[in-house]
Amino acid sequence: MRSPYAYHRYHTRHAAIVGGENVPRVVADVSHASITEKEQLTALGHIYDPVTDKWATTDQAAEFLYMGASPLPFMAPAGTRQLLDHATWLSHDDQFFCAPMMSVQEYLNASQRHTVMNVVACTTDELDNHELLIRLHDDVTVVLCLTSHHQSYFRDMRSALDVLAAREVSCPVILRKGLSAPSLDVASLYAATDIGGLLVEGYGDGVLLDVQVNGQAQFDASVRLAFGILQAARTRMTKTEYISCPSCGRTLFDLQETTSMIRAQTDHLKGVKIGIMGCIVNGPGEMADADYGYVGSGPDRITLYRGQEIVQRNIPSAGAVNALIDIIRTDGRWIEK
Ligand code: SF4
Repeated sequence: MRSPYAYHRYHTRHAAIVGGENVPRVVADVSHASITEKEQLTALGHIYDPVTDKWATTDQAAEFLYMGASPLPFMAPAGTRQLLDHATWLSHDDQFFCAPMMSVQEYLNASQRHTVMNVVACTTDELDNHELLIRLHDDVTVVLCLTSHHQSYFRDMRSALDVLAAREVSCPVILRKGLSAPSLDVASLYAATDIGGLLVEGYGDGVLLDVQVNGQAQFDASVRLAFGILQAARTRMTKTEYISCPSCGRTLFDLQETTSMIRAQTDHLKGVKIGIMGCIVNGPGEMADADYGYVGSGPDRITLYRGQEIVQRNIPSAGAVNALIDIIRTDGRWIEK
């Protein structure tokens, strides 16, 4: 029985690099985009250097590219795999380094599947199919790409995932969500609530977001948003994390300006958590799980923390950011930009 009061990642087996002990993967939905040039993948974290003819990846590079019926016209970056609609995959030259994305019926009826990884696109309503559940239980190559069309996405997905867990179906699950919103901010709120909620419940071996703003597909923003949600849910750290208080009458410095200044110098420190708190009355408690703290302790005075331990008390704010960097450096966690 799962406790609702403690975080437990739901254990899944792995298929290729999805599930098991792997961090949750990010799938970029580029099925609506027309990709003709390698440089277009820069927005997805894959940077092509034409001089060396090599790819580099950022910390926020999508591992899977869902291409639909339009495979890349060039070889995919190393470390990525294209997901192709089943019919397209069947006629593709390089079936091993691509994987099929199938509907439930295609999966159940297919005479040819991938030997390592078969992605089944499925809605929660389709999970009442007994034959499908047996196959999901037994087939070690299957990855479920699950979505809900119900109004309450989170509740419906969570009950479907609870049912899978109760039936001991341990295939990896990619949480898929399509969103149409008037702005990226609104889309971010809905995606964070629904996908983030499932991640903090311990579900999800991957995320596939398809955000549309005013009818325009936002495939690059969808990938950034997916990584941001994974980071906020603490399931995959790919950038520095900042915990800052909302500020109130006790705030002793310009919180927004100071946060921007600290971000500008430290936003490359992957996985480091920095608390920036307006006052010493409640700040240390509010940043309880931060690695480092920058806390206002008087007019023009800052107190610096390592975890919950005070390292420098009441130093002038003028040199406080540099002093914070020195503490991070002393701990061996500083890297040059
Ligand atoms: S940490 Fe202090 S300044 Fe910030 S919101 Fe809490 S009480 Fe206000």
